[in-house]
Amino acid sequence: MDNWIKKQATLAGSRTAITDGKQSLTFAQLAKRSDQLANKLNDLSALNNQRVAILTNNSVAGYLIAMAVLNSGHTIIWLNRRLSATELNYQLADSQVDVCLYEDRLNVSELKCRTISFSEVNFASEKALPKHLEFDLETAASVMYTSGTTGRPKGVIQTFGNHFNSAMASALNLGVTSADEWICTVPIFHISGFSIMMRGLIYGMTVRLVSNFDEEEIHQILVKEPITMISVVPYMLKKLLAIKQKTGDTYNEKFRGMLLGGGPIDQETLQQCEKMQLPVVQSYGMTETCSQIVALSFSDAQRHIGSSGKPLFLTQLRLDEKTSEIQLKTPALSPGYLGQPEKYATKITVDGWFKTGDVGRLDAEGFLYVDGRSDDMIISGGENIFPDEVQAAYAQCPFVSDIAVVGVADDKWQQKPVAFVIPNEQTLLAKDLSDYGRQRLAHYKVPKNFYLINEFPHNASGKLQRFKLREMLDKNEVNELQ
Ligand code: ATP
Ligand code: MG
Repeated sequence: MDNWIKKQATLAGSRTAITDGKQSLTFAQLAKRSDQLANKLNDLSALNNQRVAILTNNSVAGYLIAMAVLNSGHTIIWLNRRLSATELNYQLADSQVDVCLYEDRLNVSELKCRTISFSEVNFASEKALPKHLEFDLETAASVMYTSGTTGRPKGVIQTFGNHFNSAMASALNLGVTSADEWICTVPIFHISGFSIMMRGLIYGMTVRLVSNFDEEEIHQILVKEPITMISVVPYMLKKLLAIKQKTGDTYNEKFRGMLLGGGPIDQETLQQCEKMQLPVVQSYGMTETCSQIVALSFSDAQRHIGSSGKPLFLTQLRLDEKTSEIQLKTPALSPGYLGQPEKYATKITVDGWFKTGDVGRLDAEGFLYVDGRSDDMIISGGENIFPDEVQAAYAQCPFVSDIAVVGVADDKWQQKPVAFVIPNEQTLLAKDLSDYGRQRLAHYKVPKNFYLINEFPHNASGKLQRFKLREMLDKNEVNELQ
């Protein structure tokens, strides 16, 4: 198959491929620059191994290096720049790379491999590669580590075919074309961000890159620039909504919508978005499925508030009869975890479906509602409790600024829900919180104990790591609210 970068240079050479608001590159410039950079990487002998690690912020320089690696026929190992050196060294060893290309201002002094800064690459000479490769659908384009919400991150292999199928299904659902401009505020080392880059290449669409999520800045961009789409995770949506509510600003007239994914969201927030005429399209997906595989459409978004939508084109979805686990078949599905075929094998059913580890429901029309992860589900006295639902019931509680719920073993009920809270008041009593919950939830769902905490353990994607909360309880590291 044609190399997508070169193809877009011939199809849409003068269109902007990437911009950070200051620096812009057309598709023709992108093809030229990524060729040059690939030759420079070759001159530096940085391409001896099939896999090359990249450590970068969202930046034009990082985007270009990624394109150069793809262009040279190598696989990108995306490193998460928010991780510690120990965590990064684990991923470097796990992916068996010997070179890490890094953005100049990042600290790589503790990394255990050869490190080459982007400016070193820029200053190198060019040594022509024998040939710049075609993009073969079966070839691994990227390896991306999962968020590590439930434990050690897994290196998910993503082929060009996975990216292509994901982009096609998304375009068929959202009606995206080359006239769209998608702002990328989510990290390009996660699938949410990298999939925007790949869609840009496949659709010939402009990608607007932002280095950090600063809600005031993003709000201004959405008001002033001709952005049509933005991908957000729940906490980003809440921040942008709050500014919109405060200022009453409307976004630019081309703006079409926010693609929401990555985690659960409470109904209240979605209803407020509707009130503010903020078009939010919920979606469900994971690193293993190369981003969303289930999504709402613009026309269904308001009628099915709270649903993650219907399986996109080419994706099949079923619920396990006993456990209600969401299981999938999709051409966007990764061929496996790097170096862990046994682990991946445990995720595939005997009849070939991928086990997501998430639990959900389908309504009569086939819309999916994601309840949460099966690992987080609490079975108490024979009843299933999803911590996200309990947390959502406390979302507006004036006594606490935040709450997290986990299940712990219990003699009487097998398991019971307990909560960790960041209180708003010093005189707060457990009874107040329990009474608040009893007014809103079935009694068995109300947390039986409340523990005080200053800060929740989040991974680099901002997701709550419940396994760390359970560890804190096991080690008696928290005080119970009386
Ligand atoms: P790890 O696999 O390392 O524990 P992770 O599963 O959080 O990390 P990702 O691949 O980034 O890593 O996240 C995918 C997961 O996010 C899904 O399996 C699901 O649990 C959750 N998720 C995604 N979209 C939604 C949604 N719309 N509603 C609820 N949960 C969602
Ligand atoms: Mg996962």
